[in-house]
Amino acid sequence: MIGHRFENAKDFKDALCDLAVKRNFNFRFIKNDKDRVTVTCADEDCQWHVHASRDGNLPTFRIKTSQHEHTCGGGINTPFHPRASKKWVSRKVVMKLRDRPLYRAVDIQRDILRDHGVRLPYKQAWMGKGLAKGILHGSDIASYDLLVWYAAKVSKTNPGSVVIIDTDGERFKRGFFCFHASLDGFKRGCRPMLFLDGTHLLGKYGGILLGATAKDGNEGFFYLAFAIVDNETDDNWTWFTSTLGDAIYGDDDYTNIITFISDRSKGLVNAIAKVFPLSPHAYCLRHLHANFLKSNGQLGKSLKDECWSLIMKIAYACTSFEYDEAVRSLLATSGQAHHWMFQKSDMSHWCNYLFRGQRWGVKCTPMSRNLLMHG
Ligand SMILES: [Zn+2]
Repeated sequence: MIGHRFENAKDFKDALCDLAVKRNFNFRFIKNDKDRVTVTCADEDCQWHVHASRDGNLPTFRIKTSQHEHTCGGGINTPFHPRASKKWVSRKVVMKLRDRPLYRAVDIQRDILRDHGVRLPYKQAWMGKGLAKGILHGSDIASYDLLVWYAAKVSKTNPGSVVIIDTDGERFKRGFFCFHASLDGFKRGCRPMLFLDGTHLLGKYGGILLGATAKDGNEGFFYLAFAIVDNETDDNWTWFTSTLGDAIYGDDDYTNIITFISDRSKGLVNAIAKVFPLSPHAYCLRHLHANFLKSNGQLGKSLKDECWSLIMKIAYACTSFEYDEAVRSLLATSGQAHHWMFQKSDMSHWCNYLFRGQRWGVKCTPMSRNLLMHG
């Protein structure tokens, strides 16, 4: 409408795109500069046009003349609207993406079709999402550049925290983050037990997130430290665990021996043995299960399930009687599973009865524990 005002030229042009998508027509620019914008219908014979220009010296734009009836009959004959650009998509999804970081390109395609009647090619939706992420979080490159600044700020404003950024010349190599509150909370309020694991990062530059998580008194996760590294290598696990060790034991007011729980990935197992030689290391049963299924494919589903439930009994057995009985049952059920367990599974790392550690206030090796149990 004549007289309608916009914040600036960009706002005016964004509104034009919205209108074109909504009314299903396309337009072309006759003039397009920082002081004035004139557009007409893409159909050259059509009378639709609008002209806006700056309000004197203000940055605001105002519509000066317009003819808002189409004489062309309107309509564009493609399912993809040319004005539904990736920029247009990004404006439409930016708030949804802020609320739901896992909002996918296919969700964008579905929502845009429902809300605006426009079919987006997948790539368009995906690129629109990329732009919106940039609007919300800034560019990935700029974020990496800020890490060194961030590390310095954390040390200054949050004393006792450990933030280490390793660079390879100018390039980010890896980063370690442990906040003082987490460190303090772990030492004061959690059992001396840490779960370690790594997972792939899905951002533009990939990489791996390594994490050390404890359990609090309510059996809830208590995040102690995390790191960003390029890969799950021996070197990175050793660096992560030794930096973690320095953070926990550095000011030597903490003397507990920490028990670690993780999968059996080689780099991690070696790193724990090297950096925390006194620490017992337990293997997560979920990973062990996956390993069992993979190594015993020939057994068939029902037999595997039966064997696994016996292995679980073995894992949780507290007394020699329970343990011996479950081992005998497994042998009777499948010699192969029994063999796998004793030869391939590192039992002392997941079987409660054989696990190294402190019981009844006495430090036990599997041998002395046996003596205690039977003696
Ligand atoms: Zn027209």
